[in-house]
Amino acid sequence: TFKAWVIEKTEGGQSLAFRDFDEADLMDGDVTVRVTHSTLNYKDGLALTGRSPVVRRFPMIPGIDFAGVVETSGHDEYKPGDPVVLTGWGVGETHLGAYGQKARVRGDWLVPLPDGLTPEQAMAVGTAGYTAMLCLMALDAHGVKPSDGPALVTGASGGVGSVAVALLARAGWHVIASTGRTGEGDYLKSLGAAEILDRAELEKPGRPLGKERWAAAVDAVGSQTLANVLSMTKADGAVAACGLAQGMDLPTSVAPFILRGVSLLGINSVTTPRDKRRAAWGRIARELDLGKLAAMTRTVELEEVGTMGDEILSGHVRGRTVVRVA
Ligand code: NAP
Repeated sequence: TFKAWVIEKTEGGQSLAFRDFDEADLMDGDVTVRVTHSTLNYKDGLALTGRSPVVRRFPMIPGIDFAGVVETSGHDEYKPGDPVVLTGWGVGETHLGAYGQKARVRGDWLVPLPDGLTPEQAMAVGTAGYTAMLCLMALDAHGVKPSDGPALVTGASGGVGSVAVALLARAGWHVIASTGRTGEGDYLKSLGAAEILDRAELEKPGRPLGKERWAAAVDAVGSQTLANVLSMTKADGAVAACGLAQGMDLPTSVAPFILRGVSLLGINSVTTPRDKRRAAWGRIARELDLGKLAAMTRTVELEEVGTMGDEILSGHVRGRTVVRVA
């Protein structure tokens, strides 16, 4: 057996307990990993609290990402002792996840630990930081560049947002960081933000088209905020949309698209194909300032994470949280 957080279905809800889990009850997979680190993402908050039905199988070990060491492998690419990273693929949702000392997964889901990152640093990046890189790659592929104007990041003090601020600044963008936490201005500037925008300016219903303020944006918030982000994006600019911290809805109009040629780029980190996934991790290892990564990260123990779901959903977690498992 090993120690894990386990979600069970109960009448009208779910229960969560830190308990022994029998290794024989792990799900099918050709690689068994000794998990050393995981993280706390927004989606982990949804799973831990049951606030949204992200968990589709019971019992479930939550935790959507991990770093660890291969214990046994029937996969060509991995052998015992290899350091690996996993994000996505339904781990912690439909497949037993990361908040336990062991995980058994499909080798095809894994990425070798990128050169230049420790397992702890890879999880400081985690799903949130990896998604921020996918956003940057989508903006690059669209062709929008720093000389076109500023780049906005919404939910900037959160996990996706903090990494996005650091990556965009390093890529040469004039970064506008939108946050509801005005006390985090110095933090966001230390990550590379040039300007702070009070998110209250973006939260309420606005006009179909506003003043053109940014050429690019990374949006972790959705809903009315994303609608306003689109309405204030410069002609031919692009917005990478990856989140729903304000809501799932998108009360917008076609005006930014048909009158300004603005593009809305959807980002899904869960099922990114292998080559793009590895390219993203390679770029993270090369382009993310590890000093800034350390400054946005705190570490908690596995025993502590079970009760932290409400904290992240309420928007009170700054930056990234590493969960130490080993
Ligand atoms: P997080 O650390 O909680 O960051 C979310 C941030 O959004 C908060 O820190 C807060 O930033 C802001 N926010 C929270 N509630 C808000 C509200 N009601 N209105 C406006 N802003 C609000 O979460 P995360 O792990 O970075 O994830 C961010 C979002 O991206 C989540 O919705 C998550 O599900 C999504 N995501 C999607 C993918 C994908 O594959 N598409 C992958 C990873 C994450 P401020 O305090 O600075 O305003």
